[in-house]
Amino acid sequence: MAIIEVSNLKKSYGNLEVLKQISFDVNKNDVVAVIGPSGSGKSTMLRSLVHLEKVDGGSIRVSGDDLVKDGVYSKPDEIKQITTKMGMVFQHFNLFPHLTVKENLEMAPRLAKRESASDIRKRSSELLQKIGLTGRESAYPAHLSGGQKQRVAIARALMMNPDILLFDEPTSALDPELTGEVLQVMKDLAEEHMTMIVVTHEMGFAKEVASRVIFMDNGEIIESGHPSDVMTNPQFERTKAFLNR
Ligand code: ADP
Ligand code: MG
Repeated sequence: MAIIEVSNLKKSYGNLEVLKQISFDVNKNDVVAVIGPSGSGKSTMLRSLVHLEKVDGGSIRVSGDDLVKDGVYSKPDEIKQITTKMGMVFQHFNLFPHLTVKENLEMAPRLAKRESASDIRKRSSELLQKIGLTGRESAYPAHLSGGQKQRVAIARALMMNPDILLFDEPTSALDPELTGEVLQVMKDLAEEHMTMIVVTHEMGFAKEVASRVIFMDNGEIIESGHPSDVMTNPQFERTKAFLNR
């Protein structure tokens, strides 16, 4: 079953074509690693999926619902409903600095008013345990390490029970000794069959954890497939050059 269906996605900034007719699907339980040089359009692609950017053409379907179809966006309330099915984790965490860990986790579900306060509290404490931060619920983000902040951001994204999690270089802003703890949380999620798209420079993670790798360059998907094909036996010169860099 397809969670994300992208076809012929187009996006330009002025004269700069950043996404050139991109198409791909993400099926339930897939872990898709997106790799490629800086400036190739990876962030723009992810941000378009969650409607932080508007595309100029093409279609995005999420769990069968059209976010945008042939360049025409659905109505605002439908868009809102569709984007809550996706959780996003950013390079720079984007936690609310004036809220505690627990408040960061509980804010979106409380605003959505779909569940009782006690159900929300129960889930936030379960997720804090999952990311190894039980006991830090009253801490503010400024008092956490980068690795802890990113683990909180992942838990926050999971609070809305999304169909898919999107990660944009989740470990790129971390000191090297803190990347492992974040990658471990992501690996645990993959083992629990969470559907994920991960833009990453961590080639080891892509090779070990991804079910599929997409290589992007200059606004295009150059090749995609199983990590053992794309990363070990790339078919295109541009992929080879990137992997050998
Ligand atoms: P990546 O994440 O692969 O590094 P991006 O999606 O961030 O690539 O950027 C793709 C291209 O679009 C780059 O050339 C970048 O400079 C340009 N770009 C990104 N965001 C904007 C923006 N808001 N305005 C103008 N150009 C942008
Ligand atoms: Mg980027």
